[in-house]
Amino acid sequence: MSEMTTAGPPPLGEEGAAAPYAARPWLALYPDGVGATLEPRFATMAALWDDAVSRRGGDPALCVFGTALTYAEVDAAATALAADLVLGGLPPGGRVAVLVQNDPQWAIALVAAWKAGGVAVSLSPLLKGRELSFELADAGASVLVCLEDLYDDVVRDVVAGSPLERVLVTHPADWVVDDEGRAHLAAASGGRRAVGDAERLLDAVHRGAGLAAPERAVAGDDVAALVYTSGTTGPPKAAMLTHAGMAYNAQVFAEWFRLGEDDPVLGIAPLFHVTGLVGHLAVSWYCGSPLVLSHRFDPELVLASVERWRPTFTIAAITAYLALAEHPGLASVDLSSLRYAASGGAPVTKAVVDRFAERTGISITSVYGLTETTSPSHLTPPGRPGPVDSQTSAISVGVPVPGAMVEVVDAATGEPVPPGTLGELVISGPMVVPGYWGKPDETAAAIPGGRLFTGDIGLMDDAGWFYVVDRKKDQINASGYKVWPREVEDVLYEHPAVREAAVVGVPDPYRGETVRAHVSLRAGASATEDELIAFCRERLASYKCPRSVRFEDELPKTSSGKLLRRDLRDRP
Ligand code: AMP
Repeated sequence: MSEMTTAGPPPLGEEGAAAPYAARPWLALYPDGVGATLEPRFATMAALWDDAVSRRGGDPALCVFGTALTYAEVDAAATALAADLVLGGLPPGGRVAVLVQNDPQWAIALVAAWKAGGVAVSLSPLLKGRELSFELADAGASVLVCLEDLYDDVVRDVVAGSPLERVLVTHPADWVVDDEGRAHLAAASGGRRAVGDAERLLDAVHRGAGLAAPERAVAGDDVAALVYTSGTTGPPKAAMLTHAGMAYNAQVFAEWFRLGEDDPVLGIAPLFHVTGLVGHLAVSWYCGSPLVLSHRFDPELVLASVERWRPTFTIAAITAYLALAEHPGLASVDLSSLRYAASGGAPVTKAVVDRFAERTGISITSVYGLTETTSPSHLTPPGRPGPVDSQTSAISVGVPVPGAMVEVVDAATGEPVPPGTLGELVISGPMVVPGYWGKPDETAAAIPGGRLFTGDIGLMDDAGWFYVVDRKKDQINASGYKVWPREVEDVLYEHPAVREAAVVGVPDPYRGETVRAHVSLRAGASATEDELIAFCRERLASYKCPRSVRFEDELPKTSSGKLLRRDLRDRP
């Protein structure tokens, strides 16, 4: 592992087609003080956490509504839970699944899993019973920490037949002591529920507090968390996020944006997704700064918590920013503490970034990465807005982070293509996961020799900026003409009435496939199908223009903000 984390990118041919990438032109765009490689400060997330506790024990680690839990308090709860897990028979390497919202329990369970020498399994609170059964079995989870309401709604029915030996239920207000927070959480989760035979997480923590802390060590290449990939890409598989990889990318974020203990992090991306796990939890712990949580994303509460806790950094899907920008209370809220607002996980259009800047004075900076790259493989240098590619009109997603090697290859042959040419992004470096849990074949296919074939089509320009145009599989083939949905969506976003747009290819007897747009309109705005098609015709080659437009109240998205184009495509 030390070789993976301290060495630079793996050697590549300096000659021929790979040369423009091997030369890493992007290094010239790095912020001051950021080097080509980065010396990891922590071998494991457990060491990173311990460091934060020893430096910042009496300072807030988690801020939820009016409650601030200190690093020492979270550590005490996690240590106690770890002791109880070990007492309950969790073996080294055992899997502890977590099914909670953006609550303190996420942090407590994650750190407890590591202290017990185990692996956290990140589960989405949106999972339905069948999906949950699949993931629990796939991960071989023997312990589940879950919210009471989720226990009632989905978990109870899947426990029998699952590998679970213990289910620890918790109410979102279990660690929240202020009256406002408690009242809000009680309302949001429907009050306390009966949980039958399941154990209470609080009881396990109280019991564990009387036990000796477990002495189980973890190593850099041990798996810290299993994170299921978004599900827009086929059957779910769990990326194995290592301790070293998570600690590495936490450091990348902190060094890139110069974040320290005075930089509270606003936690608005879901913690179960890699963006929240790394871009919120790991980053704030690396800095020893507070993480501001509000159970679920609710624009009004988020805006209130920005005023209350004055966070300086956040990262979220663009949809979260859209929701904040459209909120009627925005104008009266002071957002000036937010120095960096990064958007990742889904494409960002220039029109949306501009609209957000107009309304808030904040310029959103692009981040690109995958679950398989432990969050960022590309970041945009602060204060240096990414350029827009003239060919595809995509805004740059930034440049490869220290230690990352990125090539753009011909999607069919795998050979590097020249700068300025579209191809598939292939990434290697210490942030790339070693593989998928229990899936050697899928690992070999997607990450051969540690090179992650992302399935994303994009390009690098001569200066070293990268652009992501679309997912390989979303390309539309209309009579042989290739259409990238993103390009059409970008144009639709320029229309003042359009709030959100998604473009899909649908079967067409004459063209094979044709272009259909799904659009949601801004509150109070109106536009007709003909008007939007005409708007596109003025700005795009006719083969790229939607042949039909459907109006939707909301576009279907994953919880990490990705458009579910597949759902739209399948609509009759
Ligand atoms: P996930 O594994 O859920 O993080 O999803 C990773 C995928 O999200 C990538 O393969 C891209 O398709 C998409 N993605 C992430 N960041 C960006 C970005 N800045 N621009 C466009 N697409 C992105």
